[in-house]
Amino acid sequence: MRRPMVAGNWKMHGTCDSVADLVEDLANQVFPSGVDVAVFPTSLHLGFVVECLEDLPVSVGAQNCAHEAGPGALTGEISPAQLVDAGCKLVLVGHSERRQIMGESNELLVRKFAAAQASGLTPVLCIGETLEQRDAGKTLEVVGQQLDSVIEELGIGAFVNAVIAYEPVWAIGTGLTASPQQAQEVHAAIRAQLAKENSEVAQGVRLLYGGSVKAANAAELFGMPDIDGGLIGGASLNADEFGAIVRAAGN
Ligand code: PEP
Repeated sequence: MRRPMVAGNWKMHGTCDSVADLVEDLANQVFPSGVDVAVFPTSLHLGFVVECLEDLPVSVGAQNCAHEAGPGALTGEISPAQLVDAGCKLVLVGHSERRQIMGESNELLVRKFAAAQASGLTPVLCIGETLEQRDAGKTLEVVGQQLDSVIEELGIGAFVNAVIAYEPVWAIGTGLTASPQQAQEVHAAIRAQLAKENSEVAQGVRLLYGGSVKAANAAELFGMPDIDGGLIGGASLNADEFGAIVRAAGN
C-alpha cells in the first residue's frame, strides 16, 4: 500500500511577510496522518519555512538544485548538500518550467537527480508532455523517454527513494486539468514501464499528478488506482485550499 503524498510548489511566489502568513495558516490546517505533506518554497525562504514548520508533519523541499553534490565553484547555484544542511528533505527535478524556459535537458536532469540522491535528498522527478505532443499522439513516448533517461543512467534502483510527478505541460497553471482517466492512463503506463525493470520498485514508487489540481477536482483524481497524490502549484498558495486537497488524499 503506497502512502499518498501531496506537495505544494510555491514557485516564484512569496515575500517575507506573505510566506510568514502562509506558514501560519498551514499550521492551522488539520492534515490527516496517513498523507505525506510537503511544500517547496523559493530557495530564499527555505530556512525560514523549515524553522516555522519544525513541529508540523510537513516536509520542506527545494524547487531546484545544482547538478553536482558540491561544494564548488558554481556561482548562483545551491548544492544538494547545502539544501540538506538547510533542513530540506526533497527536491523537484525537471519541473516543466525548468525544462521549457531554462532549457534543462534530460541529460542535465539525470545529473541533478543523482546529485540529489547522493546527498540524501529525495528527488521528485517531474515529467509530462506539451499540448502539441499530446495532439500528435506522442504522450507516452515523451514521458517514457523522460523516465528512461534516468533508468538508463542510474538503474531502476534509483526509484526506490524517489517520487515521480506526471504533469502535463498544458495543464500547469492553465486551469485545464487532465481528466482522471487521461491521468490514470499515463500513470499506469509509467508504472508498467518501471515494472518491466522491477515490479517491486514499480509498485512502491509514488506517482503524483500535477496540473491545475484544486479542492474541487482532487478527490476524483486521487481516486484513480495509480494516482498517489498530487503536486500542487497555484492552489498550494492558499492554506485552506491546500489543506482541503491534502484531506482529499487521505480519504
Ligand atoms: C506545478 O507548478 O507543478 C503545478 C502543477 O501548477 P498548477 O497546480 O498551478 O497547475
